[in-house]
Amino acid sequence: MQTVSDYFGSMVFDDRIMKARLSESIYRSLKKTIEEGTRLDISVANAVAEAMKEWAIELGATHYTHWFQPLTGITAEKHDSFISPAPDGRVIMEFSGKELIKGEPDASSFPSGGIRATFEARGYTAWDPTSYAFIKGKTLCIPTAFCSYGGEALDKKTPLLRSMQALSKQALRILKLFGNEDVKVVRTSVGPEQEYFLIPKELYDKRKDLIYTGRTLFGAKPPKGQEMNDHYFGSIKPRVEAYMQDLNAELWKLGILAKTEHNEVAPAQHELAPIYSTTNIATDHNQLTMEIMQKVARKHDLVCLLHEKPFAGVNGSGKHNNWSIATDTGVNLLAPGSTPYENAQFLLFLCAVIKAVDDYQDLLRLAVATAGNDHRLGANEAPPAVISIFLGDELNAILDAIENEKPYKDVVKTKMKLGVDVLPEFRKDTTDRNRTSPFAFTGNKFEFRMLGSSNSIACANIMLNSAVAESLKIFADRLENSTDFNTDLHELIKETIKAHKRIIFNGNGYDDAWIKEAVENRGLSNLRTTPDAMPHLLDKKNVDMLTSHKVYSETELKARCEIMLDNYCKTVQIEANTMVDMANRQILPAVSAFAAELAQTAAAKQSVNPALTCQYEGDLVKTLSTLTDQIAERTKQLEKAIIQVQTIEGIEAQSCEIRDLLLGKMASLREVCDEAETLTSEKYWPFPTYGDLLFGVR
Ligand code: ADP
Ligand code: MG
Repeated sequence: MQTVSDYFGSMVFDDRIMKARLSESIYRSLKKTIEEGTRLDISVANAVAEAMKEWAIELGATHYTHWFQPLTGITAEKHDSFISPAPDGRVIMEFSGKELIKGEPDASSFPSGGIRATFEARGYTAWDPTSYAFIKGKTLCIPTAFCSYGGEALDKKTPLLRSMQALSKQALRILKLFGNEDVKVVRTSVGPEQEYFLIPKELYDKRKDLIYTGRTLFGAKPPKGQEMNDHYFGSIKPRVEAYMQDLNAELWKLGILAKTEHNEVAPAQHELAPIYSTTNIATDHNQLTMEIMQKVARKHDLVCLLHEKPFAGVNGSGKHNNWSIATDTGVNLLAPGSTPYENAQFLLFLCAVIKAVDDYQDLLRLAVATAGNDHRLGANEAPPAVISIFLGDELNAILDAIENEKPYKDVVKTKMKLGVDVLPEFRKDTTDRNRTSPFAFTGNKFEFRMLGSSNSIACANIMLNSAVAESLKIFADRLENSTDFNTDLHELIKETIKAHKRIIFNGNGYDDAWIKEAVENRGLSNLRTTPDAMPHLLDKKNVDMLTSHKVYSETELKARCEIMLDNYCKTVQIEANTMVDMANRQILPAVSAFAAELAQTAAAKQSVNPALTCQYEGDLVKTLSTLTDQIAERTKQLEKAIIQVQTIEGIEAQSCEIRDLLLGKMASLREVCDEAETLTSEKYWPFPTYGDLLFGVR
């Protein structure tokens, strides 16, 4: 039998394969490009392309594609076959270096936020050699960046790579100050924990809301929900276990380090976590993971729901972005060290993150803002929309001691002087588990918990990397001019703690009192919805920061803001239209038919015995008739609102109106429909209920 280590990465053109299939000199040039970003010579590209093609064909591939991540948030691919006609009427399989390096998809239908007029359809894809090529089905997939004719990024990978570069540049300046001369590159790593729901396919197929929008728009509360918490870490059902095994095997073949799996809080909810990797790779892998989760589910007659809030009243799904910074020499800069210097360096990086999160709360918030995630944040199941940092008691006490120049516990009796005293070795305290914090320090990394399950992790990491690069730049500018490094470092750390400690909060993030305290006393921002958050992308301070680190151009930022708001508007409008359709064509006819049957039953009974009151039927018919009238009325109002919001000029104003008007009308229609569901015979109800969906996998 094949073991995991036999087939792990078998579909990846990874270092092992490169070494085996490329000549020594080609391998070295490619490696240099991967590690140092040097330009790739066309002769090298040709050789690599040839080797890739041979390898892919041996594994059954017939096509290749430039695989990229347009701003839709999912991945895109256009397949070309390797075939090329030969003079004798047969075909040969060809793939050139040029085809490997650059593609020109007709990309007119990808969102560009006005950057690329649709008549100028050309967009370019450019090979990202830092992410390995892989085979999916019969296709060799080449990870690429996607940009416009004028060079503006139209994807998520390009700014992500730029943000990693910005952070590396500034971190290297800091490391030099601490005498680390041998570090060449600093990289951020991410381990994204992915939540999802699994439901039976035959039930999914009966729900238009799931099909069109990925979430249920109707559904009364089932008799049992998640109140018993008996699903969390519960034993995994055989059908789900078979799915997970199959999924793991598919992911492992693609070199994805799927590691942990367990049941989550809600019934039918699960989680998958990989071992962390470099942010760029982790992002590619998370996109692939989401795609493969859905594909494998189909094979098991299941559907994998990645929506942030598939079911009202039941926990939604998020994605925890575990993030750290490490050198190419293998040092995690967010891990406390064992010498005074390492500790001072750690504290400086820690302060850089604290400052970054405080200064750019809005960017972090908007990076995770989508119509779907708006249902989770602040709904007492996920962190609030207010961003704060959890550090844990021990680290908090250390920062407090530094800020106030006072002794730290018994360990350091006199006041601490960085660079001189050894900080106590702080343990990764297992009691330090604050699940309600949006941004928690977990011993040697930060866990950003606000991402939605369907989000690409690119956006959050672009903002995080850039904001931290900015803090590090400010620190480096100051310390590079210092004549007394130790004293100035100490002062800088002290000042940073003082200036930014408002962002640190170790209590319960779900508590309403915290939101009040955060907003009223601490002045933290509370951007509750996507229309509130997204426009801040264009605030001067944010544009200045992101353009100065060359992560985005101003044009790219404007385009992104436009696209994200447009996406919000379209998402909610599709949901509203789906509700109208389901109410008019499924719910109303069903409830009305049931009422008619009740009336007929009553009439039949009374024809036998006119003295019968038929109270049950009579009362219910009355209640159902009132409800159907209300449903019909509210559906009409929703239809009117849909038309009204379309007349509003300007995407920002439109998104606000969609949030204020449309979402309200949708909720009010749902309310009466859900009530009708609880009173309508199972036989008549036109689609599976919450109970069916949540407990359907047995
Ligand atoms: P949890 O208790 O939240 O599930 P785990 O310790 O299981 O936390 O780790 C969750 C994720 O964090 C995993 O994907 C893991 O690979 C990742 N992780 C661990 N160390 C780091 C690190 N230094 N940088 C980034 N991610 C990391
Ligand atoms: Mg976690």
